[in-house]
Amino acid sequence: MIRTRQEIGRAQRIVVKIGSSLLADAEQVGSVGTDGVQMQRVQRFTNEIARLHASGMQLVLVSSGAVALGCVQLGWVGRNLSVHEKQAAAAVGQPALMQAWKKAFAEHDIAVAQMLLTGDDLRHRRRYLNASNTSETLFAAGVIPIVNENDTVVVKEIKFGDNDNLGALVSLLTDADLLVIMTDVDALYDANPAKSANAQRIDLVVTVTPDIMDMAGDADSTFGTGGMSSKLRAAHIATRGGVATAVISGDSEGALAALLDGEDIGTLFACGGDRQTRRQHWISEVLPVAGQISIDDGAARALRKQGASLLPVGVRAVDGAFDKGECVEIVCQGDTIARGLCNYSAVEMRQLIGVASDDIEKVLGYRDFSSVVHRDNLVLLSGAEES
Ligand code: GLU
Repeated sequence: MIRTRQEIGRAQRIVVKIGSSLLADAEQVGSVGTDGVQMQRVQRFTNEIARLHASGMQLVLVSSGAVALGCVQLGWVGRNLSVHEKQAAAAVGQPALMQAWKKAFAEHDIAVAQMLLTGDDLRHRRRYLNASNTSETLFAAGVIPIVNENDTVVVKEIKFGDNDNLGALVSLLTDADLLVIMTDVDALYDANPAKSANAQRIDLVVTVTPDIMDMAGDADSTFGTGGMSSKLRAAHIATRGGVATAVISGDSEGALAALLDGEDIGTLFACGGDRQTRRQHWISEVLPVAGQISIDDGAARALRKQGASLLPVGVRAVDGAFDKGECVEIVCQGDTIARGLCNYSAVEMRQLIGVASDDIEKVLGYRDFSSVVHRDNLVLLSGAEES
């Protein structure tokens, strides 16, 4: 696991995420026959990635730009687009995006593969494993997978939200050592560098705390949906899963190689001590939440301080309609303190409110478990440990 700049050079498997604003050229708007791609940039990134590939590293590219390129080609830049228009734009832009990468990598004799994923793919165990096996097979064949969200089929509720998040999930899916987010700012600053001359670059972040999140502000660019806060969220998800994350400029030549040489550029989010297991990550970040269980203070204390399982006696209320085994939020006094897989359905849980574990069989007619959420299936959310 990478904890310092000096350790970055050890990375063998790297996910590089490149944002839309680096790839799409708003100047080409509506010009007939243009594909909107900033080809020189694509070539520059490709040269850098090809060098790393030649040195034996395994790389995945998460490339945004489908929607933006589609907008350029359709003359839609600057328009307020409906979900369907964005999906249509992505359908137009994605082939242009892939064609640009394919052409650039072909000059280095490197084959590329398109992987389009949706949030749903990562929530379903079998699809997750398929995506993971496919990327392993591509690595073994020396092919560079190029990932984007499958924008034409996602609906709002299952959208990743942005490709920074996708990059983080892909870094976990592929068991990468490092996620590099290349963007149009060169690092995280403690204030907005466009507005404050005293803004200081943050070179190393050990834990993404609420104070760090506040530094992100709401800066945004013409293309892309991310801004710095989505990069911080991505860094949080990746580092908790054991993948160090760097945010560096996509504008300066050689930045990727410099980062891997341990040079002090951009912001490095190191892996801290609070690493989640794959299973914990799955529960806290990936699975959809199907309901809420409200618990009393005593039960909340037992979860937080003793790492205990949640027993029915501590349950005060149940919301939602969930089946056995689904993911629920565990709430105390209005704060969500944990997530976990519930051993009983919502209908059963309503009967078990405040019931002693020994009486579960009497109430339900059977008893599979004495706990309603077992500690192995329960993840405290950040901040919940201390309060
Ligand atoms: N998947 C979107 C695209 O390729 C980008 C989303 C984002 O900007 O993060 O256009």
